[in-house]
Amino acid sequence: QYILAVETSCDETAAAIVKNGREIISNVVASQIESHKRFGGVVPEIASRHHVEQITIVLEETINQAKLSFDDIDAIAVTEGPGLVGALLIGVNAAKALAYAKQKPLIGVHHIAGHIYANQLEKEFIFPLLSLVVSGGHTELILMKEHGSFEVIGETRDDAAGEAYDKVARTLKLPYPGGPHIDRLAADGEALIDFPRAWLEDGSYDFSFSGLKSAVINKLHNAEQRNQVLKREDVAASFQASVVDVLTTKTYKAAKEFGVKQVIVAGGVAANKGLRAALSTKFMDEDTELLIPPLSLCTDNAAMIAAAGSVAFEQGHRAGWNLNANPGLDIEEYGRRRKLSKG
Ligand code: ATP
Ligand code: MG
Ligand code: FE
Repeated sequence: QYILAVETSCDETAAAIVKNGREIISNVVASQIESHKRFGGVVPEIASRHHVEQITIVLEETINQAKLSFDDIDAIAVTEGPGLVGALLIGVNAAKALAYAKQKPLIGVHHIAGHIYANQLEKEFIFPLLSLVVSGGHTELILMKEHGSFEVIGETRDDAAGEAYDKVARTLKLPYPGGPHIDRLAADGEALIDFPRAWLEDGSYDFSFSGLKSAVINKLHNAEQRNQVLKREDVAASFQASVVDVLTTKTYKAAKEFGVKQVIVAGGVAANKGLRAALSTKFMDEDTELLIPPLSLCTDNAAMIAAAGSVAFEQGHRAGWNLNANPGLDIEEYGRRRKLSKG
């Protein structure tokens, strides 16, 4: 079974072909980071324009690299949301046009379900599992009891982890996206500054990163005013220590409470070396298996959309020709809808 997938939810124009839900045949990502860098973040209008320019080229490249023709494809999966509406529309319309022209089934995929299923490209899921989703726009703990079912047991009340990374990086005058730069600096620094950790109410699996972000920014501004020298490496290491401490502790607690068999990490921040190391240590002696995707599958790509789409295809889920971009698509709602459309 070959699934061709398209992903254009943000600033990556991506397409991929995955065999039997597990094996990447081709995986093409055209990143727009260079175009957005000088604005310090993603500019929606520019993103849409790039997607229009790139989508056909990326699709052709994906088919060529796979040495397949469209006739070999069993279904076409596409990210329907959440994301930037103008960006999503390009992918959804390209996928619809292709599916219609080639008479292939069409499958709508939730972007975060895609991030989660990036892990299935490495290892088969065992349920119940807990997913820590840490990306540019999301920070959530999601419990899965079976394929295609998603229960959000905790989420951020303000900034996403990746967003906090990017904003702190900006204050440190690091280029966009700042996450990887902070990660690199942190490796050379010491967590000497005691930044706050937002544990929230007892038993809550929610997160909050805006207080931490403000604390870091204030610390930097105060130091500047007093001509005090703060090592950027130490600031990065201290900030990262706070983020990683909260993420790791809450994930571990939830894994115990829900007695999950696997803990999986998903989204761009899953590329973070500090987080990967802390989680690996925490779960080392546990029966719970920890899955973290390889670096290339942490940030946006279409292989993950194909992996998620493949399972949805197997379950009999099909999208209609009225499939539309859904910028605020809720993952629990998406799961319920999938259940209803089961053949
Ligand atoms: P979402 O998936 O929520 O819609 P997105 O698609 O923009 O958001 P991703 O592509 O999953 O987000 O991840 C991008 C984010 O990951 C950015 O905020 C980036 O700074 C962060 N990131 C990438 N690598 C690292 C790293 N090594 N350490 C910390 N953060 C990182
Ligand atoms: Mg991105
Ligand atoms: Fe993403």
